[in-house]
Amino acid sequence: MALFETSLVDQYDVEGNITHKVCGICGELKPISEFYKNGKGPSGKYRYRRDCKECYKQANLGRTQEYRDKKWEEKYGVSETEIQERTVHL
Ligand SMILES: [Zn+2]
Repeated sequence: MALFETSLVDQYDVEGNITHKVCGICGELKPISEFYKNGKGPSGKYRYRRDCKECYKQANLGRTQEYRDKKWEEKYGVSETEIQERTVHL
C-alpha cells in the first residue's frame, strides 16, 4: 500500500494495537516485533522502546566494549581495544 511507504508514522491495526513503528534512531518503519517492549501504558497496552532491536544492539555493543576496556585498564593498565590493535600490528 502506497500510504504505508510514503508516510513514515507508526501504524496501528483496527483495534488500536501498534503493528509498525518508526525507529527513533535509524528512522526506519519496522514491524513491532523489531522493538523491545518497555512496560505498559496507562491504557494497559504495551509500550515499546523508541529504538529498534538493531539500533539497541549497536548501542549496547559500544557500551559493552567500553565497559570491558575499563575493566582491562583497571586490571592490566591497558584496554582490550589497545591489546587487539597491538596484536594486529605484530
Ligand atoms: Zn533503528
